Amino acid sequence: MSARSICPDFASLEVAWDAWSKPFWQAASERTLVMPRCGACGTFRWPVGPFCPECHAQSVEWLPPGQGSIYSFTILPVPGAYPTAAPSWRVPVLVEFADAPGVRLVSVLIDAPLDAIAIGDVVEPDWRPAANAKVPVFRLAVG
Ligand SMILES: [Zn+2]
Repeated sequence: MSARSICPDFASLEVAWDAWSKPFWQAASERTLVMPRCGACGTFRWPVGPFCPECHAQSVEWLPPGQGSIYSFTILPVPGAYPTAAPSWRVPVLVEFADAPGVRLVSVLIDAPLDAIAIGDVVEPDWRPAANAKVPVFRLAVG
């Protein structure tokens, strides 16, 4: 049986947000993933900021990004207790989305068999509590 990836402990993480990113974290608190799209030209702008990189407009609309898939990932060992405990494994992942071209969200793939992870795999968001927010993580989609 293949080892599975673990989830970092976000409990003490203080998420820093500002007026521009607040809608992302508000939606996350309701376990909903949204991404910012320019209200003038339609370019997705992630990370969000005050000006669209394409047209410099400030208006933003927040939309569901569609199905997520793995753009890239790596597998990192987390050392176990010396000298006997086996390492566990974290999988940082870049997720891209079917309906949000250009967006790549840095996250972590949890509970995934290490020998079954591949570029392009479909993933689904899950949520973990941080000190002041819910943090999106991803799982391999079932089926
Ligand atoms: Zn724009």
